[in-house]
Amino acid sequence: MNRIQEVHDGVYWVGSPGLTSSEDCCVYLVDLGNLVLIDAGAGKSASAILQNVESLGFRAENLSAVVATHCHFDHIGGIPKLKKETGCQIIAHELDAGPMEIGDPVRTAAEWYHASFPPTRVDYKLNEVREVLKFEKGELLCLHTPGHTPGSISVILDRDGKRVLFGQDIHGPFAESFGSDLPAWRKSMDILLGLKADILCEGHFGVIKPEQEVEGFIKGYLQQHEE
Ligand SMILES: [Zn+2]
Ligand SMILES: [Zn+2]
Repeated sequence: MNRIQEVHDGVYWVGSPGLTSSEDCCVYLVDLGNLVLIDAGAGKSASAILQNVESLGFRAENLSAVVATHCHFDHIGGIPKLKKETGCQIIAHELDAGPMEIGDPVRTAAEWYHASFPPTRVDYKLNEVREVLKFEKGELLCLHTPGHTPGSISVILDRDGKRVLFGQDIHGPFAESFGSDLPAWRKSMDILLGLKADILCEGHFGVIKPEQEVEGFIKGYLQQHEE
């Protein structure tokens, strides 16, 4: 079993196959006065994720939002339970909110997991190229970075002179059934390279740092998927 890690001041890695459940993406907690989760895992581990939050000294009921970076089951499966238990708000890009709200088995990739995702309301739908989410003690910048899915977003936290980039599944994979778009993805990756992030919190590869490693990670995937 891996251990919960503090990735950066007030940023914690609270879910992953080694931490919570084999189906889970990496799940990150950001303390912004309000507690915010970046993605939610595949579902079976929702209680384990909340336990991990509490083990850090926080109260699970103070979870105020889950930002879904995209609509895949390994990232959103835990949302219905987290919402029920904590009353947290669900935030996603409008292009990926649709499949969540109808429980689309293909677009959410739930069928890949031999599971179903119940239709779940998205409380706040992002629809701008860049949008700032304000919380009690800080903010998150959400960038629309389509490619893996049409409504994929990347989330940026600037704190203590460091830039943390939550770039879940920026490595892909790409599939027609996901609505993937490689030309759009290349443009999105160029935008992410321009951010010069110090720390990349990735969806399945965990935490990548420092800046040169983040750049190398993104460029490596760009080379794999050259035009
Ligand atoms: Zn995905
Ligand atoms: Zn994933």
